Amino acid sequence: MASLGLKVRRGEGEGFRRRLVEIGAFDRSRKIRTEGGDLYMPILELSCEAREELAGIGKFEVVEAEFQDEAPKETVEGLLGHKPSFEVVGDVAILEDPNEVAAAAIMAVHRNVRAVISPLSAVEGEFRTRRFRPVAGEERTTTVHKEHGLRYRIDLERAYFTPRLGTERLRVAGLVRSGEAAFDMFAGVGPFALLIAKRGAKVVAVDKNPDAVRLLRENARLNRIDEIVIMEADAADLAERYENCADRIIMNLPHSARDFLGVAMKIAKDGGVVHYYAIAPEDNLYARDTAFVEDAARDAGVEVEILRRGVVRSYAPHQYNIVIDFRVDKPPKEAEEATRL
Ligand code: SAM
Repeated sequence: MASLGLKVRRGEGEGFRRRLVEIGAFDRSRKIRTEGGDLYMPILELSCEAREELAGIGKFEVVEAEFQDEAPKETVEGLLGHKPSFEVVGDVAILEDPNEVAAAAIMAVHRNVRAVISPLSAVEGEFRTRRFRPVAGEERTTTVHKEHGLRYRIDLERAYFTPRLGTERLRVAGLVRSGEAAFDMFAGVGPFALLIAKRGAKVVAVDKNPDAVRLLRENARLNRIDEIVIMEADAADLAERYENCADRIIMNLPHSARDFLGVAMKIAKDGGVVHYYAIAPEDNLYARDTAFVEDAARDAGVEVEILRRGVVRSYAPHQYNIVIDFRVDKPPKEAEEATRL
């Protein structure tokens, strides 16, 4: 049966396809077809505004045409009849409930997955790691994960990593100005630090976990990133050494970042921006941590201006991973010295 299509010149097809997808007018249930020098794209209804926008790309005609149906995509939910909780990191799937049938379904749908593992523990300890047991496929916790054009060697059992912060990392990277000095206090295997280094920041990346630091060094090499200083250290010990050094500070240690607020405020330059992460209950999303920031500022003798508060992701029932961006304004040198006297 004929349905609505857009007829365009073959060489202009990709521009039209992308725009149609963006405005929600591309009919994903049918296949594009070619005829001579023309492409026929299956579409849904086109508003007058959409037609005007498409006219900016090139010549097109709205036609009635025959299209073949796309084969429906297989999903894990479709195979099982329910949706197991899992996430894919590189070629490893982390399946919350160690169920072999679910593991087989994941491997059938996600053809790149070579190992399915299930956590034996929550994210725990100072290094924020988890223990796992193998469920299907290869028995390993190591992988290479791609994010925003960079590759990361990861060992899920030895150093923290979650792909669920990818959008937040991109947001922070979008704020970076080339040449600025950034300090990642809890860098892990480097997904914030390396991304912002790639965007032109001069980065100091610190982690206390020797395995995280080993992987971070490997990841810097893997992505050919040189403008970075990598240190295995307790961030709390670096306040004096890096006092007034950073335009931007990343504090991604959500369960205990509040204990390091004074250190961050010391490391910040006058006007430096801090990205502070926390886990907060839904009935008190920002007030508690805003108070922590303000109390720490008072103790440090600096002013803070809150620039942004937001939810990064849901963390547990009724609990959210939140971010507070704030700017640190330091008193002029004389005033600071006068206060000391
Ligand atoms: N920023 C990384 C990311 O987005 O994947 C890692 C975040 S993970 C939640 C927190 C990291 O802080 C862990 O790698 C842990 O080893 C490190 N860490 C914990 N306490 C620390 C401290 N006192 N100084 C430096 N690093 C610390």
